[in-house]
Amino acid sequence: MTRYSLEKRVARLEARIRPAEPPPELTAEEIRFNQAVAELLGRMDPRFSCHVLSEENRDSNLAWAVGFIALHHIEDGTPLELPAPAAEIYLAYPDAFPRQQCQECGFLSPFTWASDERISNTTDATNSLAPYLETCPLCGGEIGWPSVFTYNQNQASLKSAAPATG
Ligand SMILES: [Zn+2]
Repeated sequence: MTRYSLEKRVARLEARIRPAEPPPELTAEEIRFNQAVAELLGRMDPRFSCHVLSEENRDSNLAWAVGFIALHHIEDGTPLELPAPAAEIYLAYPDAFPRQQCQECGFLSPFTWASDERISNTTDATNSLAPYLETCPLCGGEIGWPSVFTYNQNQASLKSAAPATG
């Protein structure tokens, strides 16, 4: 093979390997988000991370929950975790979303606005917003009301609180 034909062949191979269009530039936020999602998927039970990674489940509720948890980890410092008991809930209940929080560690736990099923399963009609999980699968803390802000306020007040005396 002559040097010329080899060069031509390499050029042809390179053209085939290179994408037709350069990939779009990602912003720093998008890169951070993608890294957080990848890290979260790596920590999850493979049964659930495989579900999220498969093409037909891209828009599933569990995939959406992964994105939400990653985003709030970046923005609010909530745990980058989605343990199996919570992942199972997102798969079983399409309207569950990560909005209730552990009062101890800030873990975002599955929550839903009152669905018919939830109302029929609770004895107290005013308590139709009962959490799916009552204790945190990460630290065993109590799952509180659905507000990211509650956790942030608690953290802020803990930080600004004067050191305990005695
Ligand atoms: Zn917790």
